[in-house]
Amino acid sequence: MPELPEVETIAAGVHARVHGARIVRVWTSGKPQTFKSPESEIAAALTGARIDSVRRVGKTIVITLHREKSSTELLIHLGMTGRLLVSAPELPLAPHTHAVLTLADSREIRFVDPRRFGRISLHNSTATKLGAPGLDTETWDQSLQASQPTPYSGPGSEPLTISLADFIALFHPRRTPIKAALLNQSLLHGIGNIYADESLFRASIRPTRQAARLTRAELTRLRTAIVKVLRHAIRLGGSSVSDYVDADGARGFFQLRHRVYQRTGQPCLVCATPIRRITLAGRSTHFCPRCQK
Ligand SMILES: [Zn+2]
Repeated sequence: MPELPEVETIAAGVHARVHGARIVRVWTSGKPQTFKSPESEIAAALTGARIDSVRRVGKTIVITLHREKSSTELLIHLGMTGRLLVSAPELPLAPHTHAVLTLADSREIRFVDPRRFGRISLHNSTATKLGAPGLDTETWDQSLQASQPTPYSGPGSEPLTISLADFIALFHPRRTPIKAALLNQSLLHGIGNIYADESLFRASIRPTRQAARLTRAELTRLRTAIVKVLRHAIRLGGSSVSDYVDADGARGFFQLRHRVYQRTGQPCLVCATPIRRITLAGRSTHFCPRCQK
């Protein structure tokens, strides 16, 4: 499942390739699960529009489109298996392609999604809630309900740019385990299971600790760890962006060398104590019982 660094890498890669381009034709697959705005509205909003920018908000890719005096945003959530590709027209369409935006220079932006947990919608449109199953559906619905007049800002705060004061204000009142609070997309958006575990390890905080009981120093360490680990992963991804934006995008995502995530029973890289795995908020959670207090 693409996490924030992968989505950032893809958005930046697609932006570099298509900003300024004009969309001349739109094809959609007719799969209701994928489209949270009517496909006819998406086609009408996109056809003839110029792509101003492609950016990431949380784990959502936001394409800002401009036409005459109005601008619209197209939101793309990759779900578990979604890919956003910039293809030459002669490349055959991959199976499970759900949208093709043809550009004036004949290149195509293609959205491919075998498992169909991905979502496409217009921001500021009359998006319908179809209650489709899958991870992040709740987040998705929240983000639709939270729709404001442009620009799209997502359901929560941005982990890479939130101030320390805002970060503390967000987590200090929470009486849930800090790991659960980190996964709550209406607080910080974009942090998934891997980066929650890795950030808590780097901050030496046990995932089960109640957020409200963390000291200011601990919350400060946690914010620093989150920014560091996400930025590091984004840097790793930047060098191989063409692997998943061009061609067929089938290559795997880069992976940060995990320190705790999925290292159950292996020695902690700091103290050699075996990494422990528990289930917390329904998710597998990995930590060092000695380093994380
Ligand atoms: Zn340790």
